[in-house]
Amino acid sequence: MSAAKTMHYLDHYCGPQECDCVPICHGRLTDPAHTSDQQRVTCKTCLNTLATRRAKAFAASEASKIAYKAELYDEVWSLATSHGFTNVTDAIMAAAKGKS
Ligand SMILES: [Zn+2]
Ligand SMILES: [Zn+2]
Repeated sequence: MSAAKTMHYLDHYCGPQECDCVPICHGRLTDPAHTSDQQRVTCKTCLNTLATRRAKAFAASEASKIAYKAELYDEVWSLATSHGFTNVTDAIMAAAKGKS
């Protein structure tokens, strides 16, 4: 077996004076090898948790992007209909013609 210690991932939520943070795998810190540098983490449980976090953050950002697009579309839609258009494409075509 290699002597390399398992690196756990640790988020420091603590103040500068005291640290009672635990690694995200909730392993006890009898093994002091922990890092907040994700590149150096070797603990599988920590890595899994990090991957899940990233996936969740990604899903959340995608969901908010879609919500934002839907909001924008609603804006454009109400703008188009307020100018008497029955669909957004017609409104954009008319705007493009007006420009040229
Ligand atoms: Zn760990
Ligand atoms: Zn800490």
